[in-house]
Amino acid sequence: AAKNGGRGQFRFYSADLKDEEEERQLLLDDLRQALESDQLELHYQPVVRVADNRVVGMEALMRWEHEERGWVSPGLFIPVAEDSSLIAPLGDWALHRACQDAAQWPATVRVAVNVSARQFTAAGFVDVVADALQASGLAPDRLELELTESVFMGDSDATDATFHALKQLGVRLALDDFGTGYSSLSYLRSAPFDKLKVDKSFVDTCTQKDQNSAKIITAIIGLSKALGMETTVEGVEAFDQLEVVKARGGELVQGWIFAKAMPQAMVLQNIHDGAFLIEPSGPDKHRPDRR
Ligand code: C2E
Ligand code: MG
Ligand code: MG
Ligand code: MG
Repeated sequence: AAKNGGRGQFRFYSADLKDEEEERQLLLDDLRQALESDQLELHYQPVVRVADNRVVGMEALMRWEHEERGWVSPGLFIPVAEDSSLIAPLGDWALHRACQDAAQWPATVRVAVNVSARQFTAAGFVDVVADALQASGLAPDRLELELTESVFMGDSDATDATFHALKQLGVRLALDDFGTGYSSLSYLRSAPFDKLKVDKSFVDTCTQKDQNSAKIITAIIGLSKALGMETTVEGVEAFDQLEVVKARGGELVQGWIFAKAMPQAMVLQNIHDGAFLIEPSGPDKHRPDRR
């Protein structure tokens, strides 16, 4: 069984530990400690303009190597943090770190940071963004906040006010995982997004014979263009997928076909003459990342 000891105490992670709630609590305690002791990292995944293979942006993705658990997926620990108050300091940390790192990249490369609904709707969020920009000196239009439709679940007046304040700051807004939530189209009517990110699930099936996913990708790109937004297609892993996405009008691609997320040191190594180019090559060549 697991014992919930204090900081720095040894802990067992027994396979017998069945109590999910207890396990969540342990993970949350460990995550809190990881944040406090600087054990979290941000890795960056390139967003590539397929016309010339130029990197135009990077998405900051949180990485956590736990001493016993190994690499813990953000798909696991982010939802746990989101169900607690920890998401606020965790998200603030990511914003600050990402802006600081991006300030060292060429000015043509933006940074995208994921923002949880709970973080977005918390009082003081706009100030955190302003602080992160100020502390890093990053130009506001180089920061893109990635939101999901869940931000629209709360008080809509407060949400509108936050959107407005963020646009006043000059940061960019992207709607992540587009096409997987619901009622998205009514949100698009008024929310000031600069970009839609086509969810990976459409790419996964875009080479299928029936072509429905490919057609949906075409439609999302068309919708996005009509509303004056950019589109990034996420999760492109294979050459045949890349071909479909290009044929369907996709201009910006993020996926393992170009690169996985990499640490800041590797980003800096890849910058040559103030620019950053990547050829598509499939996932296997890109070792640095664990996911
Ligand atoms: P997301 O924002 O949709 O990020 C894209 C996810 O797709 C990342 O997973 C990325 O590694 C993965 N991905 C990109 N290209 C490919 C590909 O070609 N193939 C495959 N199989 N996967 C690909 P990751 O890093 O595990 O992050 C999962 C989710 O965790 C993110 O989804 C985001 O919702 C959340 N997340 C990560 N970092 C943060 C953060 O700092 N703050 C918040 N609030 N959420 C975060
Ligand atoms: Mg994202
Ligand atoms: Mg996404
Ligand atoms: Mg996601």
